Amino acid sequence: MRILVVNSGSSSLKFQFFDMEQESSLASGKVERIGMKGAILSYKRADGKKIKQVKEILDHTTAIDVALKTLMDKESGVIKELSEIDAVGHRVVHGGEELTHSVLIDDKILETIKDCIELAPLHNPHNIKGIQATQRLLPGVPQIAVFDTAFHHTIPDYAYMYALPYILYERYKIRRYGFHGTSHRYVAYRVARILKKPVDEINIISIHLGNGSSICAVQRGKSIDTSMGFTPVEGLVMGTRSGDIDPAIVPFIMAQEELAISQINTLLNKHSGLWGLSGISSDDREIEEAYENGNDRARLAIEVAAYRIKKYIGAYSASMGGVDVIVFTAGIGENSPRMRRLALRDMEYLGIKIDEEKNESIIKGKEGEISTPYSKVKVFVIPTNEELVIARDTANIVSFLR
Ligand code: AMP
Repeated sequence: MRILVVNSGSSSLKFQFFDMEQESSLASGKVERIGMKGAILSYKRADGKKIKQVKEILDHTTAIDVALKTLMDKESGVIKELSEIDAVGHRVVHGGEELTHSVLIDDKILETIKDCIELAPLHNPHNIKGIQATQRLLPGVPQIAVFDTAFHHTIPDYAYMYALPYILYERYKIRRYGFHGTSHRYVAYRVARILKKPVDEINIISIHLGNGSSICAVQRGKSIDTSMGFTPVEGLVMGTRSGDIDPAIVPFIMAQEELAISQINTLLNKHSGLWGLSGISSDDREIEEAYENGNDRARLAIEVAAYRIKKYIGAYSASMGGVDVIVFTAGIGENSPRMRRLALRDMEYLGIKIDEEKNESIIKGKEGEISTPYSKVKVFVIPTNEELVIARDTANIVSFLR
C-alpha cells in the first residue's frame, strides 16, 4: 500500500510518500510561503535526487497540486499516475473530546474537526484546508485524520481538569488536551521495541524538545499526563512560548502595560520562552553558541528550560509510581547533549545515570542509549517520526475498508 502523508500549516505544507510494505519513505517535500510572493518547493527522493523551485502558489489546493505533480515528475518522481496513491493521511492538531482515535474522514468527521477550530484556531483551519484540497484533487481516495491530541485521551479526569469553576469546562470544554501525541506515541513504542519489552509493562517519560516542547508520562503504553494543556503554551519552556507561569501574571501585565488580548497572546506565544529570556534567538543552536561564549542570559535561558524539564521528570515519576525509561526526541532533544545533561543533572537518587561520552556522541538523527549500564532508569535518544505513525494509522484503517 502506498500512502501520502500531508501536514498542512498556515503558509506551509509538508508531504511524504510511503511504501508501507517495507515502511519506507520514497520521497518527501515541503511547500513554503503559500499565498506569498515567491513560494518555494523543496523535494527529495529517497535516492537523494532533489528539486528546489520558486513558484507562484497562491493557495493550499495549488500546493497539493504541485506536490502531486512533483511525485509524478518524469525525472524526479516516484509514481506515474495518481491512482498509485492508495490513501492520504492528514495530521490534524485538535480532535477535541470526541475524536480520540485516527479516523476515516467523511462529512460528519470534517464537521467535528471544524467544531474544534475554536480550540485550535491557529492550526485546525489550515489542516482543514489541506484535507479539502486533497479531497478535490484525489476524489475517491480515502483520507484519514490523525490527531495530535488523540494519544492523550487516556489521561484521567483528575489530571486533565483545571481547578477552575466547573461550569467553564461545561461551557467551553476548558481542560488539558495535550499535543505532540503522535510523537510521544512513536518514541514510546519505539523504545519499548528496542528494549524488547512489551510497552504495557514499562513506564516511560517522553520528552519532545523542539520549537514547541512537551513531556508526557506514558504508563504501560498509555498517556496519563502531559505538560501542554488547553493550549500548547503550558508546560516546558519553548522557543518562543513561556510554558508554565503564575496565571495571575497575565492580568497584572495587561494592566501595567495596557495590553489588549491579542497582545498578551503574542507576548506569551511569540516573545517568551528561550527567546524572551535570552534576548538572543528562539533557536537553541544560537543560544548554546552564545552560552559557550560566556553570555549570561543564554546560560539563564538554558538553565531555566532544563530545570523545568527536571521538575516534570520528578512529577511524572511520582504520577506513574516510578519510571523505567526516559526518551529525548525532536530538534533539541535529538541534538543537544547539553540540554539532556542539565535536565538529568543530580538525578542519581531516582536511578538516572548518564554516560557522558555516549550523550555527547548521539546527535544528528542518531538513535541510541545515553545511560550507563548501571543506570536503573534507561535513557534514550530517539529521532521522532510522526509521518510514519500517520502512514501506519492510515494503512491500518484503509486495510479494514478493503
Ligand atoms: P524542531 O521543532 O523539532 O524542528 O526543533 C527545532 C529546535 O531544534 C530549534 O531550537 C533548533 O535550534 C534545535 N536544534 C536543531 N539542531 C540543533 C543542534 N545541532 N543543536 C542544538 N539545537 C538544535
